Amino acid sequence: MDTLISNVTVVTMNERMDVLFGGHVGVKDGKIVHIAKVPPKEAPAEIIDGTGMVLMPGLINCHTHLATSALRSYCDELGISQALELQLQKEAKMDSRIAKAAATIAAAECLRFGTTSVSDLYYYPDATAEVIAESGMKANLALSSYRFIDAVEEFDFAKDEQCAELRRVVGKWHGHDNGRIKIDAGIWAEYTSNHKLWEGLAAYAGEQGLGFQLHLSQTKDEAESCEDRTGLSQTELLSCHNVLTVPVTAAGCNTLSEMDRKILGKRRASAVVTPLADAKQGRPCASITDCVKDGMNVALGTDGCIEAGNLDMFEVMRAAAMSVRAAKNDPAALPAGAALMMATVCGARAQGRADECGMIKEGMDADLVLVDFSAPHLMPCHNVPNALVFSAKGGDVAMTMVRGRKLYVNGQFPTLDLGTAVRELMEYAMPKLFEEPAK
Ligand SMILES: [Zn+2]
Repeated sequence: MDTLISNVTVVTMNERMDVLFGGHVGVKDGKIVHIAKVPPKEAPAEIIDGTGMVLMPGLINCHTHLATSALRSYCDELGISQALELQLQKEAKMDSRIAKAAATIAAAECLRFGTTSVSDLYYYPDATAEVIAESGMKANLALSSYRFIDAVEEFDFAKDEQCAELRRVVGKWHGHDNGRIKIDAGIWAEYTSNHKLWEGLAAYAGEQGLGFQLHLSQTKDEAESCEDRTGLSQTELLSCHNVLTVPVTAAGCNTLSEMDRKILGKRRASAVVTPLADAKQGRPCASITDCVKDGMNVALGTDGCIEAGNLDMFEVMRAAAMSVRAAKNDPAALPAGAALMMATVCGARAQGRADECGMIKEGMDADLVLVDFSAPHLMPCHNVPNALVFSAKGGDVAMTMVRGRKLYVNGQFPTLDLGTAVRELMEYAMPKLFEEPAK
């Protein structure tokens, strides 16, 4: 046995939602091999004393844009279209060197806050994939393809540059390190693309066994604009063009109708709810309970640093539970266990990783997070799931492990060169993005 985490409170997130007090969790070759009240007979190479700690499955952030951390706090008071305009101006100055530095800082933030796997929708796939490969964390990376609505006639999947880039990235990165990195197909949104692109991407994703990431119905304006243009909702339109034939991860879902949710639910699509980013950006929040009722898998995401401010999934779990309770005027409307489930089990399902992570269970990957429960704001603890969702913060994470490898431990990031990334961000990225050239 490589590592034993001893005398720890284990929030398993298994089918029975077992919480084990004074538990011992053993890890060998990256997998969980022992969960019991008693230590294993075999001596471990390393013992981590879990006294006063809670061990939980790694959190899964199903919607973010890691490299946009370079623009954190830049346009926080603007509406979605003004912010997007400013963002596009800055993105025009971005390059893969900036993306790599920014993605490194965002990956460190994820690990610091107990996130072990992310779904990322952006550009610069090599830069982000290199960071994920180095960091040791897991990711489903989608290249955000776009093709504006009026360019339908010119489109040919076989010749299109972005589609060729996707094929190259799939060849290079899909399945990297025994599936630690997966590549998904992706579009930014319905309003940045057209049906030929959707059909081409969906057919390719089906052939290759890829998922499909997009933003869907985040605002009322985009939903109404689609209906005015086509007579169909965005979900109906995308469904007509085969997008829902592959596993879809749809971020937002804030303004879906019952009909939309039922179409998506029938296809077992995943809604990624981003309650903090929605509230910050002045968008309505998705109805989590309606999405579940209509058959969707509901996972959680931060969105990017521009929209969310930070990548702390503890805050997102808390906001998700609160948004439902406030909307329903009912403090029991969404229990803490359900918020934890969305951030673990349902996240793994959305990423096509339900067999490998999301629970603390023998045979699963050792994607584990130790939370220090000795801080004043976590005392006393009458109910562990409640304390994790409503009292704990990302900053309480003491250790983050993926496949048995410690990627964050007590202020240290053993796999990431954070010093170089910070220097790159300050000395290269900031001047390039924000300094006006001398006239
Ligand atoms: Zn987003």
